[in-house]
Amino acid sequence: MIIAIDGPSGAGKSTVAKAVAKQLGFSCLDTGAMYRSIAWKAIDEGVSFEDSENLGRIARECPIEFGIEPGEVLPRKVYISSIDVTDAIRTAEIDKAVSPVSAEPLVRRALVDQQRRIGETGNYVVEGRDIGTVVFPQAEVKVFLTASPEERAHRRVRQNADRGLGSIDYDEVLADIIRRDKVDSSRSDSPLKPAEDSVSIDSTSTYIEDVIDRICQLANERMDA
Ligand code: C5P
Repeated sequence: MIIAIDGPSGAGKSTVAKAVAKQLGFSCLDTGAMYRSIAWKAIDEGVSFEDSENLGRIARECPIEFGIEPGEVLPRKVYISSIDVTDAIRTAEIDKAVSPVSAEPLVRRALVDQQRRIGETGNYVVEGRDIGTVVFPQAEVKVFLTASPEERAHRRVRQNADRGLGSIDYDEVLADIIRRDKVDSSRSDSPLKPAEDSVSIDSTSTYIEDVIDRICQLANERMDA
């Protein structure tokens, strides 16, 4: 079974996806981390964000892997070409770089192929922007998770502070969220939008535990059907 969780940055997708995966005994795939890794590698190699060919080459040729740490059940570590980029892909520099890189069709094609191959190996909660619309249109459960930009910025600031990574300036984070929403929703290839058959959940004033319960309930209903 595939549970697709799409939505804008900071809506709580990662927290919700991990909790749902744990409750149901599913694996979890963070597709945003894959686009972030390509952006990191492009900067590392000095490849321009307008250089479609080389961005596509990186996405096709540089393997992305996820690692589970001892004692944990879900992957937290991210590697590209065997380099640990777990922390490096969460900086403000990558927040800015990732939208132009992910708008590149050659990058999307290569990563969507990989995501489909991973999803074929078992039960997955997959989070991203185009999972229910493009990557797994046949997903059994599709959720579009939103929250107001202000609430998302508050959450991101708290998350960055906890991690000690990324900006903790509320105005800067809010501006980045609004900018990324615009780029992600207006790009021609796989724009961020709810799948027609998705369930929309607004997490602005809903407890995250209630969002998790609702998604587990949707999944259980599908499993029983
Ligand atoms: O989810 P996260 O904020 O880490 O995603 C980073 C960026 O990766 C998004 O702003 C978006 O540009 C891109 N992305 C995408 N398609 C996905 C997942 C992420 O375009 N499925």
